[in-house]
Order: sequence, then C-alpha cells, then structure tokens
Amino acid sequence: MLASVFSDETMLRVWVYAFVLAGVVTGIATGFFKARKIQPNGFKWKILRNEAIVAAITLSFSGAVLGSLSKYLIAHGYIRMIASPAPWWTIALEFALYFILFDTWFYWLHRLMHKEPIYRWVHKLHHKSTSPNLLTTVSETPFEAFINGGFVPLFLSVFTVHSAAAALILPTNIVMGLYVHSGYEFFPRWWNRSWATKWFITATFHDQHHRYFTGNFGGYTTIWDRICGTMRPKFEADYRKSKDRAQEARAGKAAAAT
Ligand SMILES: [Zn+2]
Ligand SMILES: [Zn+2]
Repeated sequence: MLASVFSDETMLRVWVYAFVLAGVVTGIATGFFKARKIQPNGFKWKILRNEAIVAAITLSFSGAVLGSLSKYLIAHGYIRMIASPAPWWTIALEFALYFILFDTWFYWLHRLMHKEPIYRWVHKLHHKSTSPNLLTTVSETPFEAFINGGFVPLFLSVFTVHSAAAALILPTNIVMGLYVHSGYEFFPRWWNRSWATKWFITATFHDQHHRYFTGNFGGYTTIWDRICGTMRPKFEADYRKSKDRAQEARAGKAAAAT
C-alpha cells in the first residue's frame, strides 16, 4: 500500500511540486517577483475579491456548458482525432495552425468586444482590473468565456488533428492566459528586439491593454496589432523600463550584499 503511494511517479510529482513551491517562496523572499512586477502599486484587494466571485460563477457555468458541448461533439463524431503517431513536424504544423487561427479569432473578436454596446455587456467586466493578476484570466462574463473558450471545440470540429497536437492546445490556452495576466514580466530584455521572438506577446503587452484600454488586442502574437497599427507606440519603451527596474533592483541587492 505504502509502496504504491510512494511509487516512482508519485515521488517525482512530489519533488516537482516541492521544487516549484521552494522556487516561489525563495522568489518572493529575494524580491525576484517584486522586481519584475509590471505595475508595482497596482494591486487592490477589493478588485481581487470581486474577480474571485466572478471567476467562480463564470468558470462553473461556462465549464459545464463547454464541457457538455465538447462531449456532444465527440459522441456524435464531429470531433475526431487521429490516434496514430506522426512525425514531429506534422504535430508542429497542426499546432501552428491552431496557434495562428486562435490568435486571429481572438484579435478580431476582442476588437469587436471593445465597441459599444458589446463592450458594456460582454467585455467591461474583464477590464475591471487595470492591473491584472492571475484571477483576471477567468474574471469575465460567461459570454466572453464562450467566445474565447468556444474556439477549441470549433477548431477541433473543423480540423481533424492528431491527439498529440490536440493535447498541446488546452495547456497552451491556459498557460498563455495565466501568463499574460500574471502582472509580472519574466521574459528577457532582448525579447522585443529579436526577430525570432518579437512576434509573441508578453505579459507587459496585455498588461498595458488592461491599463490603458486601447491597443494591444492580440492574444498570442503581436502580428495583427502590427498589421493594423493597434500596438501601443510606447509598448517597447515601457517594456525596457520595466526591465531596467528589475536590473536596478538586482544591482541594488548586489551592492547591499557587498
Ligand atoms: Zn480588452
Ligand atoms: Zn485580459
């Protein structure tokens, strides 16, 4: 009994959790997170409390509806997946198709959601937080949850992809949502300067959308914002500023230690 509880897999999981927890605790203790906070004075308990209530209602409601819809689509053969193994580049191409199409879907519907009266009824609630935190990700009206969350079952109904590609989609959606609302910038200084990476959004990018309400509509990439001229002109300068702050904090700590 005890042997099965402490099986290799369980122990590995315990170590991973312990490692992450130790990292978070150490990070807070050493000011790692503090130095990377995008809006140092933006946090408000009242906003967090309201977001927790909205998130609980929306998550249970939209989760039940989207879950039932997906089950129905799978049961009736609308969503089918290819179970057989495929070369890595096939999986990468299928995933890239999802990535680009979701980004396009998100950008245009997000821009539409900023037009009245849709904004008031659908999207305003998500913008209650001008300094987002992890809970802001799911603090939205059920309409918005259906619009954004509904893309995955729609995509899987239109395209038959391999199970391995489908398995990447949901975690990407969750991790990206949480990261861009985290309120912290962990990406390196060169991110917006490098030709290879500047197309992918950062936490600062979406944080600015919450702070200023206009511009930076993209969900995964900066491509549509660049094409349509909706990227905040000061985005890159502000990104550099937040990196300067993190560097100064590190330099200050190093000076204090010597
Ligand atoms: Zn918005
Ligand atoms: Zn947001």
